[in-house]
Amino acid sequence: MADDEIIFLGTGGARVVIATQLRATGGLLFYLSGRLILVDPGPGSLIRFLQYAKPYRINKLDVLILTHRHIDHTSDVNVIIDALTEGGKKRKGILFAPKDAVEDDPVVLKYHQRALKEMIKIKAGLEYRIDALSIRFPIEHLHGVETYGVVFATPNYSIGYITDTKYFPELASTYRNDILIINVLRPEPMDYPHLYLPDAEKVIKKTKPSLAVITHFGMVMLRKNPFRIAKELSEKTKVRVIAAKDGMRIRPSDYLDG
Ligand SMILES: [Zn+2]
Repeated sequence: MADDEIIFLGTGGARVVIATQLRATGGLLFYLSGRLILVDPGPGSLIRFLQYAKPYRINKLDVLILTHRHIDHTSDVNVIIDALTEGGKKRKGILFAPKDAVEDDPVVLKYHQRALKEMIKIKAGLEYRIDALSIRFPIEHLHGVETYGVVFATPNYSIGYITDTKYFPELASTYRNDILIINVLRPEPMDYPHLYLPDAEKVIKKTKPSLAVITHFGMVMLRKNPFRIAKELSEKTKVRVIAAKDGMRIRPSDYLDG
C-alpha cells in the first residue's frame, strides 16, 4: 500500500477567486489507509484531479464528502460521480453530505444519487469506519447553511479539516488533531460567517497540531501573500504552519512527532 497523502486540488475560495481561477477550487484529496477520499469538489475538481492526482484514478474513488452545499465546495460533484460510476452504470462510492445538499434543491442530481453505492446524511457526531480508517463529523459549523468539518483518524494519527465556519470556541476543543487543515478566507473580519486570520491564530494556538495548513484563500488573502501569512502565524503560534498551494502534496508521516 502506498504512503498516506493529502493533495490540494484547489486552494481558492469565494466569488472572485472562483470566477478568475487565480487559485484552483477542486477540493482536497486524501489517500489514507488505502482509501481514496475526495472532499468538496468545487469548480474544476475533475480537471484538477486529472492534473494533480496522478497516479490515482477517479474511478477508484472510495468516498466523496460535501462539507456543505456552497458552489465552491460542490459544483463538480455530479461530473465526479458520473466518472466514478461510468455514467451511472455501476453503483459505486459512498457520499457523505448534509441533508440540505441532497434533499430540496439538491446539489447532487437525483440520477447521480441513485448511482452511488451509499449516501449518508451527515449529522454532528456521525462516525463511519472503513477497516482501520475512521471518518468522523464531530460538530456542526456556523456558516449559514448546514456545514460539518471532518476528522480522519488512522491507527497512527489524525487529520482535522475545519471547513468554512464562523469562529466559535468549541472549534478549539474539537479539532485536537495531529494535522489541522483550516479554511481561512480573509485576513480581516467581514460580515460573512467565515474564519478570519485572528480566529485561525486562536484555533492553532489552542489546538497545537504538529502541522497546520491554511487554505481556501479569497482575493485579499492572495494579495497579502499566504506564504508570508503562514510564516507569521508560525512565529506567533510556535506551530509549524504552511500555506497550501494548488497541487501541493503532503505526506502526513513527514510531519508527525516521534
Ligand atoms: Zn461556504
